Amino acid sequence: MKQNDTTLNTLLNSNKIKLSTMSSDEIGDEHFSTGIDTPMKANAFVMSDEEKIEKIEYHFREIMETMGLDLNDDSLKGTPNRVAKMYINELFNGLNPANKPKIALFDNKYQYDQMLVEKGISFYSNCEHHFVPIYGKAHVAYITSGKVIGLSKLNRIVNYFSKRPQVQERLTVQIARELQSCLGTEDVAVIIDAKHLCVSSRGIKDESSATVTSFYGGKFKEDRTRQEFLKYIDLKTQY
Ligand SMILES: [Zn+2]
Repeated sequence: MKQNDTTLNTLLNSNKIKLSTMSSDEIGDEHFSTGIDTPMKANAFVMSDEEKIEKIEYHFREIMETMGLDLNDDSLKGTPNRVAKMYINELFNGLNPANKPKIALFDNKYQYDQMLVEKGISFYSNCEHHFVPIYGKAHVAYITSGKVIGLSKLNRIVNYFSKRPQVQERLTVQIARELQSCLGTEDVAVIIDAKHLCVSSRGIKDESSATVTSFYGGKFKEDRTRQEFLKYIDLKTQY
């Protein structure tokens, strides 16, 4: 844990110096993040979801009209409302802690004491700098400290943190920290392999590159354990 913290802090500190001298375009294209927690205002949940949808609908209509679109067109007129509902109820519903998956833990009745790997978890997120999709696969693993978690909950945790404006590094750490805290162990690993549409469809327009981030806690910092995890991820299985 300490090693990760140090690396991350060094990264954040060096970012801070650079951030102050960078334009907002540069900050977006370099994909800097300023912290592990999603930056939220203290009054983030004073407004109800219904009020937020109404407000976003109004502002999205303004954006479309500013771009010169005719909102009287049958195809376009429902768009501001659709976008607003999609933001609050789907794409960004992981901002609200009320939507956090309820995690039930079970006793490790089978005495299974090896690592459990849930690989190839599909996720869809959005880049917080451009609000365009980030999508890919997450691979997570843990070694039980006595309690086990339902498999689908691992997917749900990945999904919950994906449904926020994100940077991939933060998404990786948020998933790992949540797993560590609910499983009561440091022995957690997360790898995310993702495509960023802000890199492939605009800006540098690189269609072939992908971004890989990782978090190794506890026993996963040991080379043997880490290699075992990576081997399982690599394993090609016929289903
Ligand atoms: Zn971006």
